[in-house]
Amino acid sequence: MKVIVMGAGVVGVASAYYLAEAGHEVVLIDRQPGPALETSFANAGEISPGYASPWAAPGIPAKAIRWLFMRHAPLIIDPHIDMAMLRWTLAMLRNCTAARYALNKSRMVRLADFSRDELIALRGRLGLDYDQRSRGTLQLFRTQKQIDASAGDIAVLQDYGVPYDVLDRDGCIAAEPGLAAARDHFLGGLRLPQDETGDCHIFTNRLAAMLPAMGVDIRYDCAIEGLEKDEGRIAGVRTDAGVVRGDAYLVALAAYSPALLRPLGLRLPIYPVKGYSITLPIADEARAPVSTLLDESYKIAITRLGDRIRVGGMAELSGFNNALPARREATLRHSLNDLFPGAADNHAPSHFWSGLRPMTPDATPIVGATPIPNLFLNAGHGTLGWTMACGSGRLVANIIGGEAPPIDPEGLGLSRYSR
Ligand SMILES: Cc1cc2nc3c(=O)[nH]c(=O)nc-3n(C[C@H](O)[C@H](O)[C@H](O)COP(=O)(O)OP(=O)(O)OC[C@H]3O[C@@H](n4cnc5c(N)ncnc54)[C@H](O)[C@@H]3O)c2cc1C
Repeated sequence: MKVIVMGAGVVGVASAYYLAEAGHEVVLIDRQPGPALETSFANAGEISPGYASPWAAPGIPAKAIRWLFMRHAPLIIDPHIDMAMLRWTLAMLRNCTAARYALNKSRMVRLADFSRDELIALRGRLGLDYDQRSRGTLQLFRTQKQIDASAGDIAVLQDYGVPYDVLDRDGCIAAEPGLAAARDHFLGGLRLPQDETGDCHIFTNRLAAMLPAMGVDIRYDCAIEGLEKDEGRIAGVRTDAGVVRGDAYLVALAAYSPALLRPLGLRLPIYPVKGYSITLPIADEARAPVSTLLDESYKIAITRLGDRIRVGGMAELSGFNNALPARREATLRHSLNDLFPGAADNHAPSHFWSGLRPMTPDATPIVGATPIPNLFLNAGHGTLGWTMACGSGRLVANIIGGEAPPIDPEGLGLSRYSR
C-alpha cells in the first residue's frame, strides 16, 4: 500500500518508520527544510510514562487561577480570548472530574508505557544515539503542601504498578547531587526510576536519515494546502509542489491538523498550547543535573542532554504565536539558577525557543481511523508527544495495515468525541 504521511515531527517520522518497516511504500511531506523543526525541536526531553497525566484534573480550575497571578507564572492566558480557545478551555474544564481524569489517565498511561518500550526496542535495533539517559525523573517539592498533595499521585502510581521512590532532602541530593548547593530550597521529592530522557530533535533527525534507505520518499520544503476528496475517499494531498496521491493518508500535523480537516467536515479538538525552553552548555559538571528534574512550584523541567542543560515549561493559551517575551526566559532561568546554581554557562547563547503543544482537552492523542475510510490520524500528543511517538507510530501503522493493534486502541481514536 502507498501511504502519504503528512508532517515530519517526531510523530510523523516515527509513523513513517513503522509503516516502511511493515513493507508499505511511504511518502513523507513537511513544509520545513528538515525533520523536527517545529514542536519536536527543543522540548524538555523527558520520556516519562510515569508522569503521563492529564492537565485536566480535579482541583485544577482553582489552582489555575492561582498560577495566573504568580510572578513566575506556569500558566498564561492571552486576554484576547477567541472562540477556538474558549471552546477548547470549556471542553478541558469538563474533563476535570475525578471520573474523567481516571479514564483519560488510563488511556495515556497505556500508550506511554507501550511507547517507552517501543523506543527502547527501536534504539537497540537501530543503534540510535540521541543524548539519551535511563536515570529516571525526579519531581521536586518545595513545600509541605506539595508533598501532601503527592499522596494522590502516589496512589495512582500504585494503581498502575509504576515503580517510585519517595525521597527526603538527602535522598533527592543522592539522586541529583547538583542539588546540594540548593538544599534549603526544597523539602523532598518523588522519583520515577523507569523514566528516560533524550533529545527529541536529534532522535527524529537520526531516524529520518534512515528512512530513504527503507524506500521512503521524503519531500521537505513542501507545504500542504488541502486534501482532495472523491467518492467518499481521499484522492490526493494538494501541496505547493503539486498533488501527491496514495492509497492511504496519515495526518500528523500536530496543532495544524484541525485546519486541514475542517473543510472535510471533521472537527479535531486540538489547540496550540505554547511552551518555552532554553538550552545552555554545562559550566560545572558537579553542579549539573544528571537526569530530569521537575520543579513542581513552577511546573518547569530541567533536563541533562549530553553536555547541555535544557529547561522547559509553561503553558500559554495565545493561539498560533511563537513570540519570545524576555520575561518567560527569566522564569526558566530563575528555576534553573535557584536549584542548580553555577551548573550552566549563563553567558552562553540560551537558544530561547517556543513550541506549540498540540493539546486535546482530554490530553490523550488522537490515533487511528476517521469516518473517511482511507484517512488516518496521529495528532494531538500535547505535553507528551516525545514520550508517546514510537508507540503511537507503531499503533497507527498497524491500524493502517489492517493488522491486530499492539495495544488496546480503546479511547485513543477520534470516535471517542462523537459519543
Ligand atoms: C516547552 C515544551 C516542552 C515539552 N516537553 C516534552 C517532554 O519533556 N516530553 C514529551 O514527551 N513531550 C514534550 N513536549 C511535547 C512534544 O514536544 C510534542 O507533543 C511533540 O513534539 C509533537 O510532535 P508532532 O510530530 O505531533 O508535532 P511537530 O513536531 O510540530 O510536527 C508537525 C509537523 O507538521 C508540519 N506541518 C504543519 N503544517 C504543515 C503544512 N501545512 N504543510 C506541511 N507541513 C506542515 C510541521 O512543519 C511539523 O514538522 C513538550 C512541548 C513543549 C512545547
